[in-house]
Amino acid sequence: MPIPHAVSLILFDIDGTLLWPKGAGRTSTRLAMLEVFGEVGQIESHYFGGKTDWSTLLDLLGGTFPPEEIERRMPDYQQAAARHLSAVIGNFPVQPCPAAHDTVAETRRRGLLAGIVTGNVQATAPIKLRTAGFDPDWFPVGAYGSEHPDRNRLPALALQRAEHHLGRRIAPQEVVVVGDTAADVACARALGAIAVAVRTGYATAPGELDAAAPDYLLDDLSSFYGAVIA
Ligand SMILES: [Mg+2]
Repeated sequence: MPIPHAVSLILFDIDGTLLWPKGAGRTSTRLAMLEVFGEVGQIESHYFGGKTDWSTLLDLLGGTFPPEEIERRMPDYQQAAARHLSAVIGNFPVQPCPAAHDTVAETRRRGLLAGIVTGNVQATAPIKLRTAGFDPDWFPVGAYGSEHPDRNRLPALALQRAEHHLGRRIAPQEVVVVGDTAADVACARALGAIAVAVRTGYATAPGELDAAAPDYLLDDLSSFYGAVIA
């Protein structure tokens, strides 16, 4: 049954939800880490799904750099990540996920506010979006993996910005968080928002998304309007 009350804000994850980066993220992350930190840890086997870039840096560099130093270098890291991503992304077959364009278009057509909640640092998110054919301006609010290592903190930041954008209060139950991993479901829960999971992304074990018990579990975004929002 679709959500029985009005929704105001839909927060989309990027990787595995709106688009497939096809390796561009891992490659540019590696180059930016080398430039800013001089090492990459176990990046080749690192699982990025649902993680913030900040927590990825803590995971991969925690043995060498204290957390305060990683935080201090975040502005440099963001700048390097954006520069490297821009330089390499054309070499990867980045693609929008099925029905992602239609879903964002329908969100806008209905006058609902679309936003981004992603583990990507703020500087790289628009580069990925543009490459997959999304105008970053279609998402007037967002929260990013350069703002906090803990993804569970990000939806509240996006909600705050949405309230400022719309000039009114928004209840958590009016917020939908859409993502492809258990971490996306968890961050929706942290806000008290409605959790929608899509099977188009980077959930690892086959049962991961079922176990995370989102409010809605979709094969892809094609049924979002209809199944989640009437
Ligand atoms: Mg994702």
